[in-house]
Amino acid sequence: MVSVLVERLEKVFPPNTYALRDVSVEIRDGEFLVVLGPSGSGKTTFIRCIAGLETPTKGRILFGDEPVVDVEKGVFVPPAKRNVGMVFQNWALYPHMKVFDNIAFPLKIKKLPRHEIQRRVKEVAEALEIAHLLDRYPRQLSGGQQQRVAIARALVKEPQVLLMDEPFSNLDARLRISAREFVKGLQRKLKITTILVTHDQHDAYALADRLMVINNGEVQQIGTTDEVLNNPANLFVAQFFGDPPINVVEGEGRGEYVDLGDLKIPVKAPEGKLQVGIRPTDVYVAEAPLSPNDVALPPARVKLVEYLGFTPIAVVTWGKTELRAVAYGKAAEGGTVKVFLKPEGVKLFRDGKRIR
Ligand code: ATP
Repeated sequence: MVSVLVERLEKVFPPNTYALRDVSVEIRDGEFLVVLGPSGSGKTTFIRCIAGLETPTKGRILFGDEPVVDVEKGVFVPPAKRNVGMVFQNWALYPHMKVFDNIAFPLKIKKLPRHEIQRRVKEVAEALEIAHLLDRYPRQLSGGQQQRVAIARALVKEPQVLLMDEPFSNLDARLRISAREFVKGLQRKLKITTILVTHDQHDAYALADRLMVINNGEVQQIGTTDEVLNNPANLFVAQFFGDPPINVVEGEGRGEYVDLGDLKIPVKAPEGKLQVGIRPTDVYVAEAPLSPNDVALPPARVKLVEYLGFTPIAVVTWGKTELRAVAYGKAAEGGTVKVFLKPEGVKLFRDGKRIR
């Protein structure tokens, strides 16, 4: 296995689309990095640069101590020589080949002896629990099975680095959960350095050792999922990562508190306009505070109750000010409830930048 170092990577598609700007990150040996960003943020371009399917316009990438691209020095190791396994979004299986031949394909290209190919395909197919499907064609498989074939084909070369581009997006919600568990278990077992790109924050939450959030080709934040969730670098990250989504309300800093119009939030804040971010888990409906540091807000009206999975989320209002709050206590639509705030969870932003 190997670490992957990406330094000041830039990719400009002519005439002037900056798909990546000054991207730097180190993926440690055996680490699982998830790259999360909205559509068009540069995720696919990033992973393709690592695979060697795209040539960056600036920067360098090292596998361990070996540069695989260094734009300044004119180094470019072609994809076949990079020893990476790649799983594509559409899995890209060959429809006219049986599962065995699909998996064996990278080894046949390498011209490995027949018995060696037989052994390695069987081994990887057993690990992925698809050994009984080797005689079928891709069209005779379920989505989850096809995905495992695609992963098997990526792993059969015993790559140093595993790259996955939205591998779950063709799976339904149930299969996606089991596929995530499977990929995570496999990655832990093989300890293979893995980079997975996705626009789905639930993939990131379930899989990432560390998360890199990207937008407009620029890194917004790199950290563990907890760090990114609890300590978002800016408003974009706060709004993009977190379920249920964070409350963001325009307010006015007043020194000792923030004025939201019909509600005062008791946290210190510099004077002037700002945006207040409070996760629905940091403001809650209950009979009594859950922890001694939590503060009571004035009673609120319940506008409506939604569900996140099986967790009720109350939309509570004070005049025109409205927040989504996890409901631990009873919250009936139209009723009045006690609401508590975790002051340490209140995040303040000015012009999108985090100031508290
Ligand atoms: P999605 O989630 O929609 O796949 P993404 O985050 O993977 O998006 P990229 O596919 O990396 O984003 O694209 C980043 C930017 O680069 C986009 O603005 C896209 O239009 C542009 N782009 C990607 N490939 C090319 C290309 N071959 N030629 C020109 N522009 C491109």
